[in-house]
Amino acid sequence: MLFTGANSQPAPDPAYLTGDRVSVLLPLPLAGAYDYVVGEGQRLAPGDFVRVPLANRYAVGVVWGAGAGDVAHEKCRAVVRRLSVPPMPDALRRLVDWVAAYTLAAPGAVLKMAMSVPTALEPPPPPPLGYVVADPLPDVKMTATRQRVLEMACPLASHPLAAAELARRAGVGVGVVKGLADAGALTAVPLIRPPADVPDCRRAGPSLSGEQATAADALRRRVGDGFSVTLLEGVTGSGKTEVYFEAVARALEQGRQVLVLLPEIALSAQWLDRFRRRFGGAPAQWHSELGDAARREGWRAVADGTARVVVGARSALFLPYPELGLIVVDEEHDASYKQEEGVIYHARDMAVVRARLGGIPIILASATPSLESQANVLAGRYARLHLPNRHGGALMPSIELVDLRRHPLPRQSWLSAPLIEAVEKTLAAGEQALLFLNRRGYAPLTLCRACGYRLQCPHCSAWLVEHRSMGKLQCHHCGYLSLLPETCPNCQAEDRFAPCGPGVERLGEEASARFPGARMAIMASDTLTGPRAAAELVERMARREIDLLIGTQVVAKGHHFPLLTLVGVVDGDLGLAGGDLRAAERTFQLLSQVAGRAGRAAHPGRVLLQTCQPDAGVMAALASGDAERFYAAEAEDRRAAGMPPFGKLAALIVSGPDAAAVDAVANELARLAPREPDVEVLGPAPAPLALLRGRHRRRLLLKAVRRVPVQTVLRHWLGRMRLPAGVRIQVDIDPYSFV
Ligand code: ADP
Ligand code: ZN
Repeated sequence: MLFTGANSQPAPDPAYLTGDRVSVLLPLPLAGAYDYVVGEGQRLAPGDFVRVPLANRYAVGVVWGAGAGDVAHEKCRAVVRRLSVPPMPDALRRLVDWVAAYTLAAPGAVLKMAMSVPTALEPPPPPPLGYVVADPLPDVKMTATRQRVLEMACPLASHPLAAAELARRAGVGVGVVKGLADAGALTAVPLIRPPADVPDCRRAGPSLSGEQATAADALRRRVGDGFSVTLLEGVTGSGKTEVYFEAVARALEQGRQVLVLLPEIALSAQWLDRFRRRFGGAPAQWHSELGDAARREGWRAVADGTARVVVGARSALFLPYPELGLIVVDEEHDASYKQEEGVIYHARDMAVVRARLGGIPIILASATPSLESQANVLAGRYARLHLPNRHGGALMPSIELVDLRRHPLPRQSWLSAPLIEAVEKTLAAGEQALLFLNRRGYAPLTLCRACGYRLQCPHCSAWLVEHRSMGKLQCHHCGYLSLLPETCPNCQAEDRFAPCGPGVERLGEEASARFPGARMAIMASDTLTGPRAAAELVERMARREIDLLIGTQVVAKGHHFPLLTLVGVVDGDLGLAGGDLRAAERTFQLLSQVAGRAGRAAHPGRVLLQTCQPDAGVMAALASGDAERFYAAEAEDRRAAGMPPFGKLAALIVSGPDAAAVDAVANELARLAPREPDVEVLGPAPAPLALLRGRHRRRLLLKAVRRVPVQTVLRHWLGRMRLPAGVRIQVDIDPYSFV
């Protein structure tokens, strides 16, 4: 492994020889690694992927280090063989250990995320074969069809064709091709794939403005100079992407790999276009919608170093980069970086850990940084670069509040008079408008007009959301689907169900009625069937084929719509309900992001924000554009309450199918709660989602001052618990979700 950076750890890996004991970590939720003996003729090193016996089967694991030796030698079984894949890099192994210790997950459960493509560890399938004309051509029986095949097939050393393709071009059956091959007139050769289009760091970037160039220079200097964290803060449209591309180019010049994390990779077609324009090649992509073959090839390309730039969702952090030289986390404040299931971790924070373990720089980019990152800047742990202006002189849009108490909405209507007027004006001027409502479906609640009964999910404490376009009601927590019942399950009244409140579909209905001439489209995660659909919609918007776009938060993320001049936020208060710790911060971030879609090019933008709480701090901050003041006040509240980022939080969620058993465990947890200074335990309380996927849930919250080693406290506490079958305790360190 060749490292060029100053801070690499070049300590040679020890070798384990026949008869030595090694500890092998398996991608299974076990308590720790198991000891094995190095087999006859084997020579192993840390990070090697190995096949080992496990009970009465075989499993693949990773050599984690020397054996612990706490099992009798006779009981220790031998490693079967080493797999022929590059070893798992040291920094990734240390990341696995670090994440496990921090989140209290089993190390094997974390390793499983780093071995998410088991087939990538198998030898790759042989390349498909193609055919060329044999040289010399043997004497074979000629027919008209055979003649045509030979004419179509290229001479040796030129491009071979697959049998099916050759048959198609010659207009014959595949049997004719096979017959010629059997007779020796065609030679089979491996089909060589066209070389991947590699990003080229020598291409020139756009000419940067003075302010952009200053930031880009600072970033370039950090590449190759050890571990550092830089918050790249810049208003929407300031050119953050172009600026961090310069750091990407620098890392590529140094022969290092680069990882860019994006919150919604499926929606990032525009980002990919810009990358291609800048580097003339495509990055490797990593996200959940990749097929098996793409995952296998992608994993291997990262491991053997052919993939130079990877752009991906949070799971891309656990790929086996041998030469990682830079990490970028774009939209670092985005909540989707928190994984809420399985191993519960925050990809932004763990990316910082990965950078530290690898001795490399990391860039966190955002227009509205998280309070966590801002606190780290203030504490001197992170550096900050600031781009306060939009590129090319475009102005920031002005945000006006529409006080819904002064402009009450008519029944079954969600657009106020000022917003309607603004949309009409925008459309009349031939410009585009966006109506933002962060709610999928037609209506969030359906109730019986006769008795007031609300249609609920049978498996969750949640209402069913009507999706009229698919003719169904859906639970947004577990995916349960049902048809609208004909009679009320409670009072048997017929046909008395009424939708309550709007989702984007219903808003679309109102907009069609109000703006009949406008070409409209709806953009929500469930109306987009995949990355291509999203890209298409964005392109139609850019080509001006849409006048009025209605969307949920998926429209907020990173899209550049040059002709969009009006943004209407239909329900600005939506995210503030529920008493979530970060409700105000998240509302500020989301609405700034949406507002930032307006007026990014020549025409100035305007944003109308409908709210019932115009005096709330977050609304006032959005209207005045005074982010600093908002963040300062928000930080002060958190500091006073001892909440993150100034204090630590950990949530414990007790769940199980039987409510009484869950209560018993939750009460026992409370009884055994640590009684230490600077630690406070709140709860148990029924979780807001007291029933989820058929499991009852209770929450406890541990709150501590920063210097308390929360993991140690939790390990000690949970170590005293005995759980009945079916009951589970989930630990969520630094919780972001409080449902
Ligand atoms: P941000 O990520 O800060 O919202 P972007 O990087 O998306 O900003 O830039 C906004 C738009 O301005 C993009 O279309 C981008 O290509 C363009 N842009 C930014 N900086 C430059 C530059 N120096 N030269 C040309 N175009 C630029
Ligand atoms: Zn449900």
